[in-house]
Amino acid sequence: MPKILLVEDNEMNRDMLSRRLEREIVLAVDGQSGVEMAGTHAPDLVLMDMSLPILDGWEATRRLKADDATRHIPVIALTAHAMSSDREKALEAGCDDYDTKPIELPRLLEKIAALLPPSIAALLPPSEEKPHE
Ligand code: MN
Repeated sequence: MPKILLVEDNEMNRDMLSRRLEREIVLAVDGQSGVEMAGTHAPDLVLMDMSLPILDGWEATRRLKADDATRHIPVIALTAHAMSSDREKALEAGCDDYDTKPIELPRLLEKIAALLPPSIAALLPPSEEKPHE
């Protein structure tokens, strides 16, 4: 199973994403613990909220990408702001891709799959899976 580290301070978003992804999800609630958990849990991919306490998602991503132990882990930035400047900022910080909230799971799964090795991406749930709400 792909191991995904979700760094998200909003409990509702954490619950929604971990329920829908049904993967081996590791949860961090702020940028600092996100950086630490990326080191200790060696996830296949990080979903990084940008607006986070202690360290924001941009700075947490910069630290992940500055560390030889974690720089290879793909990071998808998640933000509520659909502004192109936020996209640029996320990519400049080292994020490999970017998605906006509210999350559409099929779209996010496609982005996740594109960043994982094919053998690991094959273990993701089908992208036509629909939210229950
Ligand atoms: Mn947030």
